[in-house]
Amino acid sequence: MRLSTLFLRTLREDPADAELPGHKLLVRAGYIRRAAPGVYTWLPLGLKVLRKVEAIVREEMDAIGGQELSFPALLPREPYEATNRWTEYGDNLFRLQDRKGVDMLLGPTHEEMFTLAVKDMFSSYKELPLTLYQIQTKYRDEARPRAGLLRGREFIMKDSYSFDVDDAGLEAAYQRHRAAYVKIFDRLGFDYVIVYADSGAMGGSASEEFLAVSPVGEDTFVRCEASGYAANVEAVVVPQAAPVDASSTPAARVEDTPDSPTIQTLVDQANAMHPRADGREWTAADTLKNVVVMLTHPDGTKEPLAIGLPGDRDVDDKRLEAQVAPAEWAPFEEEDFAAYPMLAKGYIGPGVLGLEKASKIRYLLDPSVAEGSAWVTGADEHGKHVFDLVLGRDFTADGTIQAAEIREGDPSPDGAGPLTLARGIEMGHIFQLGRKYAEALDLKVLDENGKLVTVTMGSYGVGVSRAVAAVAEATHDEIGLCWPRALSPADVHVVATGKDQDVFDYAEGLVAELETSGLEAIYDDRPKVSPGVKFKDAELLGVPTIVVVGRGLADGTVEIKDRRSGERREVPVGQVVDEVLAEVRAEARLAEVAHAAPQAEATQGEAGSVTDPA
Ligand code: ATP
Ligand code: MG
Repeated sequence: MRLSTLFLRTLREDPADAELPGHKLLVRAGYIRRAAPGVYTWLPLGLKVLRKVEAIVREEMDAIGGQELSFPALLPREPYEATNRWTEYGDNLFRLQDRKGVDMLLGPTHEEMFTLAVKDMFSSYKELPLTLYQIQTKYRDEARPRAGLLRGREFIMKDSYSFDVDDAGLEAAYQRHRAAYVKIFDRLGFDYVIVYADSGAMGGSASEEFLAVSPVGEDTFVRCEASGYAANVEAVVVPQAAPVDASSTPAARVEDTPDSPTIQTLVDQANAMHPRADGREWTAADTLKNVVVMLTHPDGTKEPLAIGLPGDRDVDDKRLEAQVAPAEWAPFEEEDFAAYPMLAKGYIGPGVLGLEKASKIRYLLDPSVAEGSAWVTGADEHGKHVFDLVLGRDFTADGTIQAAEIREGDPSPDGAGPLTLARGIEMGHIFQLGRKYAEALDLKVLDENGKLVTVTMGSYGVGVSRAVAAVAEATHDEIGLCWPRALSPADVHVVATGKDQDVFDYAEGLVAELETSGLEAIYDDRPKVSPGVKFKDAELLGVPTIVVVGRGLADGTVEIKDRRSGERREVPVGQVVDEVLAEVRAEARLAEVAHAAPQAEATQGEAGSVTDPA
């Protein structure tokens, strides 16, 4: 890869539409280019990195017996109709029609196609278990494409699917994938955790995510030090609070609380006008907040939903999103309030929601609201609240919902201790789908007794293009990209500086020798570019080893610089190839040792063994 001819143009300026530093650098360093929002072109260097990620994923999938194939991205509507995903995917699906007006789609994920292929080709338990995979382009019309490759509308995913006759087979396939994912993410050099995940719209039961720990992640996860429990906040199940005795709680009464439409103003008014008998102050935790949102179901129908939760907590957007999926939710707007005049904005209470159900609105409570507990809550009239309203005695609800925010220090659902919170990027997702798709598409095989049984399936994804972005995000520094050796587009970046022909002649020979030794080299052979610009470009491109051929050549030395540590050293010309080779091999060996080490039974919340790039 000679920079005089390589299809590359580095940019001095940050692209206007990039928020995250890794994304800016991938564009500035000429790895990717935006084609449309959430749609990117892979330039030669970017494609090299992508191929390395793919190779790692492919090796580990092959190692667990996965068979690679490739489905089209352009798909017929019918299979997605049969599983209801044509509707459930809603606006996220790219839909199109062919010239005859036949509906088609661009595949967001391929459960249907894999299920049908197995149905077409296999018919006996003897042909199972089976694991199939592809590394392929997916399309999702994401509401918020973000940070370039991190959340694209076109992106590359490894998706695999396991097919088994029974639950034990599925469990074994799931564990094989889990172990393969541990190896994949170890090799990619991530600091990651494995967390319980919400199975969401896909259906099915057991499900875990591999999250790259990162402050820029869109997912929040919790961990309990004491037990090792770790979960995406979307999947945290807050236990139902035990009932409390309400026999001595006074009767509910409506009180004036003028100008108290928010929790804070309510608490102030309650303390000023209706102090507690026991002398303690009212706090936000004594109030029951009722939040109304508008759901839009995949078929377009709208439905209001009310959520009752302690006033010291907010509804967590993503937890709610996971709970209502495949429906989407939005805050109640002025026109929604106009359509439901019995809802007194700022004073909504269980009166209209939960008791007389005058509103006909579905009303769900946070599980921390105990049967028998007493609350200060809206009286469904402006300027009025009701005190000592007791769940079970004075009001009821239609059920519970896991939508309240989870906070640092909250008790772990397993009772083992407090939770800590951090952010992560979802890199992989494994789940036991069960028989949902096989049932919908009628995938059955004959069992040992000649009886037809429905096949049970697992589905497993890795964000391949997202991994490129996540690694860039995790490893870059102020001056440029900083690739771990396993993903770098080249092993070494040779810079020839100055005008001296000897320098270029030597560098030329060095590059040839490096390549003969099996290394990939980028060679900055540009004749009229200043050393300063060349150094800057080398730092920006982020290849781990930089060799500078320049003035020192007269004294028989060149400089080898470690991009990641910044360390530099002078090396006699005759030893350069050996030194670079030794470096590459040492890291490869380290990776191999880590790779070959027997995996301890991976547990929840276990952080990945980080192959520290520094
Ligand atoms: P997210 O919650 O981030 O939207 P998801 O749960 O919808 O992801 P899956 O359907 O589980 O994603 O897809 C498998 C993997 O594909 C994810 O773990 C992620 O790494 C990757 N992925 C999903 N959506 C995108 C996207 N829009 N751009 C890039 N990678 C993606
Ligand atoms: Mg997922």
